[in-house]
Amino acid sequence: MQVPAQFAYERAESVAHALALLEKYGPEARVVAGGHSLIPMMKLRLAQPEALIDINGLDELAQITVEGGELVIGSMVRHSELLASTVAGGHAAVFHDAFAALRATAVIRGADGTRAVAVREFHEGPYETVVGPEELLVQLRVPDTRGAGSAYVKVERRIGDWAVAAAAAVLRVENGLVAEAGLGLTAVGAPHFCAPEAEAYLIGRAPTEESFAEAGRIAAEHCDPQADQRGPADYKRHLAGELTRRALVAAAERI
Ligand SMILES: Cc1cc2nc3c(=O)[nH]c(=O)nc-3n(C[C@H](O)[C@H](O)[C@H](O)COP(=O)(O)OP(=O)(O)OC[C@H]3O[C@@H](n4cnc5c(N)ncnc54)[C@H](O)[C@@H]3O)c2cc1C
Repeated sequence: MQVPAQFAYERAESVAHALALLEKYGPEARVVAGGHSLIPMMKLRLAQPEALIDINGLDELAQITVEGGELVIGSMVRHSELLASTVAGGHAAVFHDAFAALRATAVIRGADGTRAVAVREFHEGPYETVVGPEELLVQLRVPDTRGAGSAYVKVERRIGDWAVAAAAAVLRVENGLVAEAGLGLTAVGAPHFCAPEAEAYLIGRAPTEESFAEAGRIAAEHCDPQADQRGPADYKRHLAGELTRRALVAAAERI
């Protein structure tokens, strides 16, 4: 089935208007941003929202700014705008690859006000986040990472395909030792998409090939990959370790 079920369509004129529309239509309403995930799911009838609230055109959600040392990314900033942004790239080179591992905060707004959630707590599982049915994600706030190196690497079967596995690293070195490490992992069953044990291992160690390889081994050990058409679990676990190592090497080269 490639035709969505019927739904109401509303174009929001402001964040306040979008929240009012979400309240009006209730839990079966969905916000549509790029539609890249939602529309295919509607066509396949895996999602059947009763109403779509279109937040395209809300300039207040489409800004990239720096506030109090934090990089503030509106939730309607396009990925391409982020990748091309000198403000974002100056903040962390990883924005020119992708973004992850940065210990950002998600700012969520609802009728009762605004709340901040660490991105590491944001995803509850596949297609599930902590954003409530009558709430809107409005910003991502990224702490000051200037002086740190960052990078993202992935393995995909074809350009544009879902990644088989991917890793991102952020690394700050002080007096020859790792002072801060952030590791993000996707598609390998890493709890909350990060590798805290490997991050903890790196702190206070010299940023060497050996310590990066050991961090990769630790990260792989804590993953729980699932076998699917992209490969068996052992292969994905291997990728988790190897991509973590490569991301750390690349991040260190960018410091
Ligand atoms: C072939 C393919 C390859 C992909 N590869 C990748 C990949 O490599 N990496 C990756 O990360 N993703 C990937 N994706 C997933 C997709 O690109 C992401 O999910 C995309 O970021 C969705 O953004 P969107 O703006 O299109 O969201 P939409 O499809 O518009 O919305 C997705 C969901 O988020 C909700 N939503 C949107 N905006 C808000 C908001 N401001 N507040 C609250 N809820 C909101 C919607 O209601 C909906 O439930 C891929 C998808 C496809 C189809």
